[in-house]
Amino acid sequence: MKTTRLILGLALAAAFGTAQADDACKVKIGANDMMQFDTDTLTVSAGCKTIEIELTHTGQLPVASMGHNVVITKTADYEAVAKDGLKAGPEGSYVPADDARVVAFTKLVGGGESATVSFEGSKLTAGEDYTFFCSFPGHSSVMKGKVVVNP
Ligand code: ZN
Repeated sequence: MKTTRLILGLALAAAFGTAQADDACKVKIGANDMMQFDTDTLTVSAGCKTIEIELTHTGQLPVASMGHNVVITKTADYEAVAKDGLKAGPEGSYVPADDARVVAFTKLVGGGESATVSFEGSKLTAGEDYTFFCSFPGHSSVMKGKVVVNP
């Protein structure tokens, strides 16, 4: 009887572990008209073959006045990338083109729109300090958070 319970427990733990791994490969984040993301932490796994990040703008303001995107860089790079992104302008989603410091980014979206970016988990290093932020002018100082990268 004891053994049966133990086996069942292990089976449940294994199933739960698998579910967690799937979650870490596909994350969702919302942004609103108040210049806010709905979370300050994104948790992903570097072991994912592909990581998918889906941004949904839950507000109503147009992209020209309240555009949002999600850009991921190492925390040490984020301020410089945000600054360089301004030069790329709206047509470049305010992200410097072909920049090795940029791990991934979504295009800019306005109210009611969403955007998804997929990239290889191997582009991230577990335990490294990453930041996600919105590179729309004036947003990066408040619209940012930590990307926690698990193995
Ligand atoms: Zn924004």
